[in-house]
Amino acid sequence: MLRRVKIDWADLPDPRNLEAPYPPPERLHPGLNEINAETFPAFLDEIGLVGMGGSGFPTAAKISAALGAHTLVVNGVECEPGVTIDQAVLLNQALWVAAGAHASAKAVGATHIILAVKNDPDLVSELRGLYPDFEIATFSEKYPAGAEKLILKKLTGKTPPPGARPHQFGYLVQNVVSLRAIGRALVDGVPVIERPLTLAMPSTGFYKNIIVPVGVPIRELVERHELPYDPAVHILSNSGLMMGREAALDDPVEKTTLSILVLRRDTAWRDERPCVRCGACDAACPLGLNPFTLAERVRKGKTNSAAFKGQMTECFLCGVCSAVCPSDIPLVQTLEKGKQCL
Ligand code: SF4
Ligand code: SF4
Repeated sequence: MLRRVKIDWADLPDPRNLEAPYPPPERLHPGLNEINAETFPAFLDEIGLVGMGGSGFPTAAKISAALGAHTLVVNGVECEPGVTIDQAVLLNQALWVAAGAHASAKAVGATHIILAVKNDPDLVSELRGLYPDFEIATFSEKYPAGAEKLILKKLTGKTPPPGARPHQFGYLVQNVVSLRAIGRALVDGVPVIERPLTLAMPSTGFYKNIIVPVGVPIRELVERHELPYDPAVHILSNSGLMMGREAALDDPVEKTTLSILVLRRDTAWRDERPCVRCGACDAACPLGLNPFTLAERVRKGKTNSAAFKGQMTECFLCGVCSAVCPSDIPLVQTLEKGKQCL
């Protein structure tokens, strides 16, 4: 299971650098004045934007649902271990991120923008200079602090009820890379054809934040950066240890790809053993769900009860339960199947 890989990311080079294949933009969102609630969703569909924080949900629908929100939250609480692409984009491409944020806020009528980031004083001080008109809110960097529901909980001071969405509380939460994509389209007329991502091979110390074309095969990234990938020894992870999945060399980079990690197989896989009823998965679930019980119900096909469906709807497949399980039980993979029963 990828979720149990232990990597000492502290030894890696500064993750804040971003290798971009073009110069930074010079103009400032000339179309911002023309943005309004009627035209903005169609513009987002036209540029092909989906949630680039990993959800893949069409952004136009999210914006339409959030009309009337008072606050836009720029979600930069990047908490997947070793993935720092949101941070790199925030620090290196502020003009695009700010343009996308202002446009989104204007479209839904939000008068307040909060930049949500991890609690790192140096980072916060740099961001204050780059985004002077955003309020900065800091969050734990412990996974899964960047989940929308947990951000909402901190901002409102209350646990959102099951099934609640941020717009029901007056918030629109947008990922940094999605906002960058909006800004890129507004400033330069470039639709969603690029994907910023972290490319890393921890066992060799290789670590880079880069921008690549959507659709490029992972093979090309591995070869271009001369990574010594050997399928007998390594496994490819698309989008992190916690929420990510195993990828093949010829898989393309998608709009939702946060990272490509080349990991050693011997650290990535361990066989499942029987549950020891330790309760660690229940204790670790950030939503207070009962992962083992849910997974047992999925395995036994007992998925019709309202209680099961309520908990399953809440679960956002963060993988924390799998990560803490001492028996390496693939809880989150089973819960993914449970989602199909809803
Ligand atoms: S994946 Fe596990 S820890 Fe995460 S929300 Fe679902 S049940 Fe809870
Ligand atoms: S953490 Fe693993 S071993 Fe412990 S109760 Fe949950 S499923 Fe069982």
